[in-house]
Amino acid sequence: MSTAKTLARTILIVEDNPQSMNLIRMTLAPYDYHLVGAIDGEEGLRIANEVRPDLIIMDIQLPKLDGLEVTRRLRLIPVFRQTPIVAVTALAMPGDRERILAAGCDAYLVKPLNIRELPGVIAQILATTVSGGVE
Ligand code: MN
Repeated sequence: MSTAKTLARTILIVEDNPQSMNLIRMTLAPYDYHLVGAIDGEEGLRIANEVRPDLIIMDIQLPKLDGLEVTRRLRLIPVFRQTPIVAVTALAMPGDRERILAAGCDAYLVKPLNIRELPGVIAQILATTVSGGVE
C-alpha cells in the first residue's frame, strides 16, 4: 500500500481526440497524478461528479456538450466552483480567449500542445489550490 497513491491528485482529461488524449496522458504519466479520461462533454460531467477531480483539462471542441458548456455547468455545482479548469483548444479566433475565460476556465492552452510546458502549468495551478475544495 502506497501512501503516495492516496495523496496523488486526480486530473480529469476531457478530450475526444484519441491522439491528444494519449499525448496528454503520456506527458503527465511520469508525475504522481491519478489520471482519468472522458471522451465527450456528457461523460466529462458524469465522471467529474464521480471522481471529484482536483483539476480538469478540458478540450473545447467536444461531442454532445462542448467544453465551454461543460465548464459552465460544472461551475453551477458548488463542489466544482473552484476546481481549476484548464481549457485546451485549437480555436484561435478573436474573442475565443474571452469566451473561454467567461465560461469559467482558469487558463487555456493552445493546440498543438507544448508538452514541455504542460507539466509545469499543471503543477503551478495545483500548487495554488487546496485539494477537495468543499466549503
Ligand atoms: Mn476535440
